[in-house]
Amino acid sequence: MQYAESVVDLIGGTPLVRLSRVTRDLGPDAPLVLAKVEYLNPGGSVKDRIAVRMVDDAEASGELEPGGTIVEPTSGNTGIGLALVAQQRGYRCIFVCPDKVSQDKINVLKAYGAEVHVCPTAVDPLDPRSYYSVSDRLARETPGGWKPDQYANPANPRSHYETTGPEIWEHTEGKVTCFVTGVGTGGTISGIGRYLKEASGGRVRVVGVDPEGSVYSGGTGRPYLVEGVGEDFWPEAYDRGIADEIVPVSDGDSFAMTRRLAREEGLLVGGSCGMAVAGALRAAEKLGRDDVVVVLLPDGGRGYLNKIFNDQWMADYGFLDVTGSGETVGELL
Ligand code: PMP
Repeated sequence: MQYAESVVDLIGGTPLVRLSRVTRDLGPDAPLVLAKVEYLNPGGSVKDRIAVRMVDDAEASGELEPGGTIVEPTSGNTGIGLALVAQQRGYRCIFVCPDKVSQDKINVLKAYGAEVHVCPTAVDPLDPRSYYSVSDRLARETPGGWKPDQYANPANPRSHYETTGPEIWEHTEGKVTCFVTGVGTGGTISGIGRYLKEASGGRVRVVGVDPEGSVYSGGTGRPYLVEGVGEDFWPEAYDRGIADEIVPVSDGDSFAMTRRLAREEGLLVGGSCGMAVAGALRAAEKLGRDDVVVVLLPDGGRGYLNKIFNDQWMADYGFLDVTGSGETVGELL
């Protein structure tokens, strides 16, 4: 019989799929462009990988003891990964979210059995009611409390160095020449990038993609709508020595490509995936037919049905012309 002992054992081992439609404009000498589909992880995102590794490490070091409580300020994919691992290993989970987070996201975390504390967004980070302050206090005051802190936890990049990087190398039989990914905490690019550079003797080019306005491409943290990527500070999980190039992509271009991935490639994915693919195509323009580009797609699109896949939302932000003859998205407007 073939079965996993628990859902946690299903994390990782995601497949590569060729992008053949959205790459059309690259012409006959285009490189092979392969997407690594991380929404096929059990919690629906790449963040399952870091969740299990952060918990493993904390168990090994004694920071997280049997019956302990995981406390993290997150509303997104990392929360789902942590909730899933916590539940299977018998830990309590408390997440602290800003009040702008949608009820749907909160319901997902609760569905996995997590507790959610909602904090006001409109207060200073140093205010005791802010979500940073509340998560610090809960981690301190809860008996057996442990805060994973994905932004500074070395297990975040290491999980990618030990699993995602080797998978890409093996699945491409060492033929990958360019790796492209979005940058949020920086864990993905730092871990996979370092592994692929070491495995290839420095041959693999590593390209980071971030939203226009984020610090990685020289911005100040100006607001953008793509979720899960870009920062207004430099996280410890980000290794500044890994990326050969950072490509900034606008919200409009990110969302346009996200919709194309669903419609043309059958990949219903999130906005940071569209952003990463838009960046990958720009990198691919400079490469030839012997190159193999791998682009990582962090999560699925179901969490964005009311935003990117909602015509009215897109129109409200000026990304889609719903009054005219056809659909106009992205920078075309
Ligand atoms: N896309 C999404 C949807 C994410 O949740 C994240 C994680 N913040 C990323 C991309 C970026 O990954 P990393 O934090 O490893 O840089």
